[in-house]
Amino acid sequence: MNPIQIAMTTALPAKRKQTPSGWISFDAPCCVHNGESADRRKRGGIMFNGDGTVSYHCFNCGYTASYVPGRTLTYKLRKLLAWCGVPDSEVTRLGLEALKIKELTDVNDNIDIAKETTFETKTLPSGARPLMEWHDWKALEPTGIDEDLIGAVEYILHRGLMVDDYNFMWTCEGSYKSRLIIPFYYQGDIVGYTARKIGNGSPKYITDSQPGYVFNLDNQGWDRHFCFVVEGPLDAISIDGVAVLSNDIKDTQATLINSLRRHIVVVPDIDKAGKELVENAIKYNWSVSFPEWPDADIKDVNEAVQKYGRIYTLQKIVNAIESNEVKIKIKMKSYFGE
Ligand SMILES: [Zn+2]
Repeated sequence: MNPIQIAMTTALPAKRKQTPSGWISFDAPCCVHNGESADRRKRGGIMFNGDGTVSYHCFNCGYTASYVPGRTLTYKLRKLLAWCGVPDSEVTRLGLEALKIKELTDVNDNIDIAKETTFETKTLPSGARPLMEWHDWKALEPTGIDEDLIGAVEYILHRGLMVDDYNFMWTCEGSYKSRLIIPFYYQGDIVGYTARKIGNGSPKYITDSQPGYVFNLDNQGWDRHFCFVVEGPLDAISIDGVAVLSNDIKDTQATLINSLRRHIVVVPDIDKAGKELVENAIKYNWSVSFPEWPDADIKDVNEAVQKYGRIYTLQKIVNAIESNEVKIKIKMKSYFGE
């Protein structure tokens, strides 16, 4: 851990909860400073990544802050530290530590490019608030319960996920009404989203994404050995992997993924697009997992999670990892039915 991570760990409220993915939640200290009432439902969350990154996100007032080694301490992180009770002198000291790290950081090309990668911050559709809040029903007054909101919760559960597996959003107004919104985060900021229609209506998905973006990078915990790469956001959420949102991986995306410095494993859907994803994996020298599911109708990771649960699915994926290029090419043929 770097000095900033250590300081954050010490300063956080003692009452906290940690998910297996490494997300630590606690009563958010930010809300009262942002015109919201004090959080008592552990809606503040922080993630410490192995690359030294810190990402903070509040699911109550929406405050975000992050630290990336090699960069200076941001104003937002300084404020967060102060709200956690860290004295000014200590914040100043940490600012200097960040500068030292900046000077010392041994940069290889990947990390360098990853650091330079920025995405434009986006605003979510009007009225969008975390699904968890709507789920508390109180936010629904005075309009009453929205049938489609129940549909959204059912949609998530049917996919073998929990409503709090991701910061899903919902709105009761505007053109995104009745759509389950999946925000795209990058270093704590919202940089896009995809919104799936609940109930009848088209288009099924409305997506606002930026070139080179990789979904769920922020949630790649520091203690992970693997980084699983899939195509779609729900598949990524299912196994805490990242999604490239297409079957054609761009160089910027590959750089961002490589900068995690994990064992990168592509898990393809069993279809034509999946095959293209594997061809990309070969190009970037990544491993590929070819899990054989007991039921032949399982075509992607999320379907496997729905049917067998997360642990079995992950075991199968890990046991089916192939890293040798020649073997990947051979397995590919039978896997995609050639
Ligand atoms: Zn807050």
